[in-house]
Amino acid sequence: MANSAPKLDPRGRKVKILATVGPTSRSPEMLARLFKAGVDAFRVNMSHGENADHAKTIEAIRAMEKQFMRPIAILADLQGPKLRVGKFKDGQAVIRHSGHFKLDRNPEPGDETRVELPHPELFGLLDKGQRLLINDGKIRRRVIRADENEILCSAEVGGVISDRKGVNVPEAVLQLSPLTEKDRRDLAFGLELGVDWVALSFVQRPEDIIEARELIGGKAFLMAKIEKPSAVTHLEDIARLCDAIMVARGDLGVEVPAENVPRIQKDIVRTCRQLGRPVVVATQMLESMRFSPAPTRAEVTDVANAVAEGADAVMLSAETASGDYPLETVQMMSKIIRQVESGPDYQSQLDVGRPQAEATASDAISCAIRRISSILPVAALVNYSESGASSLRASRERPKAPILSLTPSLTTARRLTVAWGIYSVVNERLRKVEEVTSTALEIAQAQGMAKRGETVVITAGEPFGQPGSTNSLRIETLH
Ligand code: PGA
Ligand code: MN
Repeated sequence: MANSAPKLDPRGRKVKILATVGPTSRSPEMLARLFKAGVDAFRVNMSHGENADHAKTIEAIRAMEKQFMRPIAILADLQGPKLRVGKFKDGQAVIRHSGHFKLDRNPEPGDETRVELPHPELFGLLDKGQRLLINDGKIRRRVIRADENEILCSAEVGGVISDRKGVNVPEAVLQLSPLTEKDRRDLAFGLELGVDWVALSFVQRPEDIIEARELIGGKAFLMAKIEKPSAVTHLEDIARLCDAIMVARGDLGVEVPAENVPRIQKDIVRTCRQLGRPVVVATQMLESMRFSPAPTRAEVTDVANAVAEGADAVMLSAETASGDYPLETVQMMSKIIRQVESGPDYQSQLDVGRPQAEATASDAISCAIRRISSILPVAALVNYSESGASSLRASRERPKAPILSLTPSLTTARRLTVAWGIYSVVNERLRKVEEVTSTALEIAQAQGMAKRGETVVITAGEPFGQPGSTNSLRIETLH
């Protein structure tokens, strides 16, 4: 990935796109089309599909990364402790709007009066009056009585339940490890294949992050999915402990009233920006494009709002995994982002929400480059960063000019693909300090980010390769 590599034009946008890979997108040809259309990082969803398919997907993305000579991140999303009911006699049952329904420990197929709940830890934990939601919240029950063997529920809303449908118990904090046996196997599999990011589902407590980190052992970066009310309560501590956050609106919107999701999304984005953790807004962003080549106006507005609020990235799920129009969806998302970013208020709105700088040299320099790029017509803010930490601090300031992050580490470059405004280039030569300025100018030009006569700001740290040592800022003009 040297700077002499044939380049793919920089995206010309700050907000990143994550796309989930699935049956409709896992061929190497489709992956390449999605990447060219704007995908910055791919999500492999361990809740679905076979590991053999995931392995092929990962292999194809790695081959593509070499072909295009651009770092591409792979996120392995672990299913987490998602609760599900057992099976039914006829594959499904109609649960009446009135009357009682029982969840028990009997593995016999269920019917309209009862079904197995194969999660022993839930019995005796639930309290009278707590809500129990089945099938994406479509069926609503309230607990009347719960003991070691059964949970008796009263009716709120009935409907059809089929085999293995999901169960949400928003009010309960479950004494569960955030990683099930399946997650542990999937994690080992993902790490073996060298995924860059691991996403953890149904995080409840800060301790969950610590436990996951121990298992990951520094082999990948960690993204916490916020989809439980208890994670919202502990958001700040969770965000501090992980590397990025996902606003997982699908399950979140079942666990909390759907109308609360927009406010929670805003709070999460603000908190993450304050802490300098990349934040991804996910789920149902262009949902109708699963079956239609054009989105609804409301979906377009939703993507636009997430961008305007300051999200680092927006994510596509079923739209690209199993939908009929994966390419059109990515193209649409990219167009929406560009529109918002080129609008008159985008930058000033981000400035208004700017977080307080911390008393460090890195933050002082990050603050300075934001100011400089609002005063001078800066083509690129070149930042030399071994670990990516100083590029993330620069990104946190949301400067007007794009950040060209130069790093000798491919791992760092892939990590930064999910962060706002950062365009990463791997360059081995940068291990020597004398070369920083000349190499920075050369790469900015080669990447098409700066032309002759344009201004480039270069930030780096000495001694070289020591994290947190950013201490120099130069303003250079390309000759
Ligand atoms: P999922 O997570 O797609 O793995 O369920 C995202 C969400 O819940 O929004
Ligand atoms: Mn989820």
